[in-house]
Amino acid sequence: METPLEYLARNEARFIEDLREYVRFPSVSAQPAHAPDVRAAADWLTARCRGLGLETVLHATGGNPVLVARTPRIEGAPTFLVYGHYDVQPPEPFELWTTPPFDPQVRGRSLFGRGTSDNKGQHLAHLNAVEAHLRTGTPLPCNLVFLIEGEEEVGSKALYQFLPEHREELACAGVIISDNGIPGLEHPALTYALRGIAAIEVRIDGPSRDLHSGLFGGTVENPAMALCQLLARMRDGQGRVAVPGFYDDVLPLSDYEREQLARIPTTAEQFRELTGSPALFGEDGFTSEERRTARPTFEINGLTSGYQGEGSKTIIPSWASAKLTLRLVPNQEPGKVIAAVRDHLQRLCPPTVRITVRHGHGGEPYLVSPDGPLAQGALKALEAGFGHPALLMREGGSIPIVSAFQKVLGADTLLLGMALPDDNAHAPDEKFDLDAYAAGMRMAVHLWPELTRAHAGLKS
Ligand SMILES: [Zn+2]
Repeated sequence: METPLEYLARNEARFIEDLREYVRFPSVSAQPAHAPDVRAAADWLTARCRGLGLETVLHATGGNPVLVARTPRIEGAPTFLVYGHYDVQPPEPFELWTTPPFDPQVRGRSLFGRGTSDNKGQHLAHLNAVEAHLRTGTPLPCNLVFLIEGEEEVGSKALYQFLPEHREELACAGVIISDNGIPGLEHPALTYALRGIAAIEVRIDGPSRDLHSGLFGGTVENPAMALCQLLARMRDGQGRVAVPGFYDDVLPLSDYEREQLARIPTTAEQFRELTGSPALFGEDGFTSEERRTARPTFEINGLTSGYQGEGSKTIIPSWASAKLTLRLVPNQEPGKVIAAVRDHLQRLCPPTVRITVRHGHGGEPYLVSPDGPLAQGALKALEAGFGHPALLMREGGSIPIVSAFQKVLGADTLLLGMALPDDNAHAPDEKFDLDAYAAGMRMAVHLWPELTRAHAGLKS
């Protein structure tokens, strides 16, 4: 009897053709003109899931439909959920693509096209691994639910409503997301933590109108200067955020985590080169990788005040404003952090100006225990699939849906990306490495027995 791995190897060429077919749908969720294509991509995926014998429902929502497909039910076995999205980023600017974004072409060992790696190829790899089980008569050790949405690139509005409405149907022991990257084919990785975010806008008002700096300079406070001085006090000389209480809830890195993060092969010099900065910066006592993913930050994203045109204009501007975001790490809470920053800014603001602090959006940081059984099981599956020892890594950005899975379904998420650093997600010449595609499918074959075992260990 053929094994699932043999089946995957034998069908590799066809899986590439399948992905090409799927990528041909310009399922651009941001552009209303593409609504029929978004729908067609959802229909294609629905037909494919049904063709495999999965119990598949394409749920209508207020927005783009949400696909739920289940493997044949095994009583008493745990259920894991695989999340992905069939919508894609806009392809513009077209002229920067070597070949058209929706006419996917193989060059070397890569398939080029919009949506190849983000995210069609990555969830199709999981689906192909299920096919390999079903077609070879190899029982899956667990139940799988595929939850594939069509609005990830525009904020997942429909899914946020869908989740609580289908809470029971989607109940699971864990969520797998393959919608992110790894350092390289020889360095597969489990991403076990994400940073959160807190956004704030601060505005400083001074005189009721712009004033002549000759007639009034030296007698009233300059709001732009007041804002700069305030913001300068938000960080100390060691690169630490200087807001009282800011670090109170920060979970320190364990020795195990620091050891693991140190295995990520990017050197500090490579990292500096990538940024184009003259030199790296950061909080004392941490590596760039730790600073980028496991430490919180205070960033000024935009500063506005006074005259910005050509030449000079001798004024004291009437107001100044700044857009700020803070990247948060486990276990910081956005609401608490925003309040601490607001209070600190208000306390330090001189009486010569008025300050207004507006709260923006917040997103919670995320962490799944890196030495827990699920994470360790995933590492084994990665190693078996890619043929190289797997790394543990954290992501510096946020994936908000992960918090929703935790809150609504009570399930931890494992991020098992297959994208490579040069896959050009969201950019022209997006591609998916075909070796990563094949390795991802093999990984998925090893994943389900590993997670089922880990889950049994958790329960007993
Ligand atoms: Zn994506």
